[in-house]
Amino acid sequence: MIIDLAESLSKRNFSEDVTVSFDRDVLHIMSEDYPILKKEPFEFHFVNEENRRLYVHAEGELQVAIPCDRCLRRTRVPFSLVIDRILRLSDGMIVIPEEESDTLAYPADGYSIDCDILVFDEIMVNWPAKVLCRDDCKGLCPVCGQNLNDKDCGHDRFVPDPRMAGIQDLFQNFKEV
Ligand SMILES: [Zn+2]
Ligand SMILES: [Zn+2]
Repeated sequence: MIIDLAESLSKRNFSEDVTVSFDRDVLHIMSEDYPILKKEPFEFHFVNEENRRLYVHAEGELQVAIPCDRCLRRTRVPFSLVIDRILRLSDGMIVIPEEESDTLAYPADGYSIDCDILVFDEIMVNWPAKVLCRDDCKGLCPVCGQNLNDKDCGHDRFVPDPRMAGIQDLFQNFKEV
């Protein structure tokens, strides 16, 4: 949601609180779609600090469906987001930094701020390095693709560890010397 901040920007040390709903229902990241399962409105707090900086603070929670790293089953991942941003002000307008001038993803434009971009940025910062549907997820069978959490297909799933292969080569070399 885009918030018009003309009033805050024109009044030194003015602050305002706005309840904002995140407009997106799906996160589109690197050609993957991640549905948002649940979202609550964010409470945004804006402060014009001495006509020099716009301080933005917001908190909110949402849940995103992300595939499990082992079995690919969609897993509900909760995000507790805290946004803290400081944007520079000049002549009652938000200044877009030079290095951001040709990106479309800068969250502000003159007198308005795009809260969706701020929320999206914060989701990215908090994106988990690893997602498991459960700690002991058994993953997929490398032979037939069966989700081994549901049933055991009985295939031989022994895959030699490539690091062990390296050590075996090393022993082989010692023998030859
Ligand atoms: Zn899993
Ligand atoms: Zn199998």
